[in-house]
Amino acid sequence: MTFRLTCPVCGKRDVYEFTYGGPERGPRPKEAEPGAGAGSAAGAEAHFRWAQFRMNRLEPQEEWWHHGAGCGVWFSTWRDPATNREMRPGGVEAGGSEGSGEGFS
Ligand SMILES: [Zn+2]
Repeated sequence: MTFRLTCPVCGKRDVYEFTYGGPERGPRPKEAEPGAGAGSAAGAEAHFRWAQFRMNRLEPQEEWWHHGAGCGVWFSTWRDPATNREMRPGGVEAGGSEGSGEGFS
C-alpha cells in the first residue's frame, strides 16, 4: 500500500520517503512540580497521558511526518487513516470539487 504526502519544501512525494512521527498531541501539559502537593498528581496524570497514550482512530487526524529521504524537514499534515488521503486542516477532504474554495473553517 502506498500513497503520497505533500512535503512543504519538496511537494508531493512517495510515502516511503517519510517517517511517521505520530499524531499531533496538542500543547504539552504543565509538568507536576516536585513536592507541589495534591494538585501535582493531576498534573502528572495529564502529562503521562499526553506523553504515552496513542489513539489509533480511523478518522482524519493531524500527524507529524519527517522527510528523511528528502529535505529532512518535520511537518504536520492532516490525513484520513481510512483512505490515506491527505486532508485540509480540520479534516476536510482535500482536492475534488471545491466550489467556493475558502469556505472551510
Ligand atoms: Zn521535503
